[in-house]
Amino acid sequence: MSTFLGLPTAPRGVGHLHQEVPFPAAARQALSNGQLRRNLRKATSTIRDKRAAVVSELPDWEELRAAGRAIKARTMADLGGYLTQLEAAVQERGGTVHWARDASEANQIVARLVREAGSPEVVKVKSLATDEIGLNDALAAAGITAHETDLAELIVQLGRDRPSHILVPAIHRNRAEIRDIFSREMADVDPGLSDEPAALAEAARRYLRRKFLTATVAISGANFAVAETGTLCVVESEGNGRMCLTLPRTLITVMGIEKVIPSWTDLGVFLQLLPRSSTGERMNPYTSMWTGVTPGDGPQAFHLVLLDNGRTAALADPAGREALHCIRCSACLNVCPVYERTGGHAYGSVYPGPIGAVLSPQLTGIAHNASLPYASTLCGACYDACPVKIDIPSLLVHLRARHVEEDIRERRVPSPEAITMAAASWVMANPARYAAAQAASRSGRLLRRRGRISALPPPLSAWTTARDAPVPPRQTFRQWWRTQHPDNPVGRP
Ligand code: SF4
Repeated sequence: MSTFLGLPTAPRGVGHLHQEVPFPAAARQALSNGQLRRNLRKATSTIRDKRAAVVSELPDWEELRAAGRAIKARTMADLGGYLTQLEAAVQERGGTVHWARDASEANQIVARLVREAGSPEVVKVKSLATDEIGLNDALAAAGITAHETDLAELIVQLGRDRPSHILVPAIHRNRAEIRDIFSREMADVDPGLSDEPAALAEAARRYLRRKFLTATVAISGANFAVAETGTLCVVESEGNGRMCLTLPRTLITVMGIEKVIPSWTDLGVFLQLLPRSSTGERMNPYTSMWTGVTPGDGPQAFHLVLLDNGRTAALADPAGREALHCIRCSACLNVCPVYERTGGHAYGSVYPGPIGAVLSPQLTGIAHNASLPYASTLCGACYDACPVKIDIPSLLVHLRARHVEEDIRERRVPSPEAITMAAASWVMANPARYAAAQAASRSGRLLRRRGRISALPPPLSAWTTARDAPVPPRQTFRQWWRTQHPDNPVGRP
């Protein structure tokens, strides 16, 4: 086993996890796209309604959530132990395990394995881990063509686009846009292709079937890996995964190390939580499981690549590590008012939405994704929806505090925010100063227009460029108290 589970030397994550444009600027651009907002509203509200209906069928839903949370916490407490157990079980059943510290190591391993298998192309079943490490680009650089086979991933790939949702990567595209992409990119497609879902699915099916029947190597992700038996599990809805996992001679699975779970009993809990939370189904149409290699049946070579890429660095933070409990259901995205308006591209990482806002900064180091922990209203909807009860709002606050602390340590000159907070602390530490500040703030009433203050002078204008400021009340609390309690005007006990 590799030594990278030694936490002090764990590398930070690299790959498609960084924001090139900070969230506020990217979000502003996304908000100006009306079509994007309509697509997102329709898609997220449909998935939300389906999820609510199937969740309400289970009287023990809250107990299941608590069980999922407990299993994940137990696994993280001994992640190295469970991974070692998984490695031994996979090898015992004929598979080979590879350990990758970061994106570049994982890409090199996979490219080498494909070359050794003698194949110039591979089929892929949707895998966020391979999106995270930029595997398709790395394979292309090595002269290997990767074909995405999940319908939404295929739309993204043919459109030379980026995924914008964990589960529905092309959620930002509507039917007409998809028809245009297929007409442009698929050879032999019907020139009169309509934008009816059945016609689009048929075009994709014909295109993909040729790939499935000729590819000799497949690459997958994994939803879960059972340590006790070495069994891998992928859930999906289209059957493309089943094709990839059974037809080619060689199967390579790239899996984040946090996907391991201890036992089959634990898998039973997650197979109830995941489909209901992701697609709003009681179970996924395809649940595929395999253990090593079975002679004469399915792939005859199986490689499991265990990917760190910043995960052990996240594990080292006792509070932040909760983000590693995520089972990538996307329920938090579908209920998030920020995600619903900006879409996934604004987050700049393959992990968008609330979970991306807490996971990406931990994988890369907060400095590389500093604006993401602020991309939230802290309304708490994500916490309520999460099937493994990840307290995302508390994690966001935790990461904001870490960001402020790191920022203070690195700056020579205090930030405007730090100066403002120091001034507020000085005022609030003294009753006379506080009363004087309250009196002064009431003059702000002069700036109100139609019951709101929408423009303040600098430096407070930084606040009002994007939002209104509250109008100070006519009376302070102290003044009100004195009118109500003339016999005890200073509130003595
Ligand atoms: S944080 Fe929770 S709700 Fe969001 S994707 Fe992960 S498991 Fe699902």
